[in-house]
Amino acid sequence: MANSCIDNTNATAVDNFAKNISHKTANQTRIKAALIDMDGTLYDSMPWHARAWHKMITELGVEATVEEFFEYEGMTGKATVNLLFERAFGRQATDEEAKDLYARKSLYFQTDNKARIMPGALDMVNTLIANNILPVLVTGSGQASLLDRINNDFHGAFPPERRITAHDVSKGKPDPEPYLKALKLAGVDPKEAIVVENAPLGIISGVAAGIFTIGVNTGPIPRHKLIDAGANIVFDSMPQFAEKLPDLLLELNKKTF
Ligand code: CA
Repeated sequence: MANSCIDNTNATAVDNFAKNISHKTANQTRIKAALIDMDGTLYDSMPWHARAWHKMITELGVEATVEEFFEYEGMTGKATVNLLFERAFGRQATDEEAKDLYARKSLYFQTDNKARIMPGALDMVNTLIANNILPVLVTGSGQASLLDRINNDFHGAFPPERRITAHDVSKGKPDPEPYLKALKLAGVDPKEAIVVENAPLGIISGVAAGIFTIGVNTGPIPRHKLIDAGANIVFDSMPQFAEKLPDLLLELNKKTF
């Protein structure tokens, strides 16, 4: 019962995506690359990011909640500092302020970070590789503490040359730039890729790049916010997504866009 519901959802999501693709070809879609977010998707790291942001900004005397930082997930550090500065001081941060404050937030994160690999994430990556799909990391983070361990944690799936990080983009999510750059890096068209994201801004970025975008709800953000952001399909946990991924890939690969 539950299985058929999910399978129907897969089929419907793929159908809807196909209808909205303006560039139609006679070729079968073949998914060749998976563009995957890091924080909250591959690592259970968001609670520590949120706490580090909150500690840094409240030390400045700026009022904020821990929860709001889940909503800013995907933005570059500078963009998040600017958002808080606009709200508190009515102006953007200078480059020096943004750099110093983001460095302080990063230090708090490194000191406190107990992020683990997201349960189900290794299964997801293994399924992609077993289907000859190239994993590419696409993150707004420049955080060395996770980037230094990710390739090892995921058994060689994310070498430095298959990453788009904060260092590679000028705009960051929700702008499509990170996912457009990842498509170029992977050498594929939008219809040959999938995006895996846990947060609304990342979903907006993937959708704007014209890619089938999968929302995996791993945190406290209400499910409807992932749907409102434009996700083509939403799963309620990473283990659930990992389990349904082979069926979803079958659906995507048999569809002619
Ligand atoms: Ca994320």
